[in-house]
Amino acid sequence: MKQQLGDPLNPAQLAHLSGTSRVIHTGWVHCSASDRPEHDAARVMDRWHRQRGWTQIGYHAFIRKDGVIELGRPWDQVPAAQSGHNAAALAVCLHGLALARFTDAQARALVAFVDAVDAARAAVQRPPLRWRGHCEVAAKACPVIDYRAVLGLDAAGHRGAPAVAPAAAVPVHTFGTLRLFDHGLAVSALQRSLCQAGAFLVIDGQFGRATEAAVRDLQRAANLAVDGIAGPQTWAALGAATR
Ligand SMILES: [Zn+2]
Repeated sequence: MKQQLGDPLNPAQLAHLSGTSRVIHTGWVHCSASDRPEHDAARVMDRWHRQRGWTQIGYHAFIRKDGVIELGRPWDQVPAAQSGHNAAALAVCLHGLALARFTDAQARALVAFVDAVDAARAAVQRPPLRWRGHCEVAAKACPVIDYRAVLGLDAAGHRGAPAVAPAAAVPVHTFGTLRLFDHGLAVSALQRSLCQAGAFLVIDGQFGRATEAAVRDLQRAANLAVDGIAGPQTWAALGAATR
């Protein structure tokens, strides 16, 4: 089924889109420069960009204030988003202008988006993208948010180890005990390890019911006490399962 402009994207669709044959090495983060609710849609960006003389929306994805990721420009097409840096690029735009009015849901969606793209690339032996902000190549505040902190980027703009790595290279990290409703990068790492061990989870850094169920499944398989809490024994079992 062909995806249309403005369709919400789930991780499986992101993985499919990430399989585009176009060479991409940089992902660019933008903001829409508006906080108005009536502008909170890829279709509105599309109309603006057509009015500026472009053929269609310049971004490949648009993240609404509620965290829904909408499809923008087809991914097999070069973006029209950061002048002089559109070749080999992917562009994502968050709706917003004032720093305080971006939402946590958008930050989580951006992290999930980046992880899904990088994981899909890793699955076909492509390197993770380098993630950059529009402000790095233009005299603009865009994307306003501290995308480097949100994404936990290293100096090169990489988010870290790809979600799917050669088995021998998978480091086993222990991030302490994690439980339902915890959140953050440690939870993302746990989710990544659970996925490597065979679970299907969105890597969003939120320890919700799905993550808890995946922990229980792992504990059951490893003959541990089944409490859904990732403590030292669960981490050790994860290490064994992903080795
Ligand atoms: Zn921008």
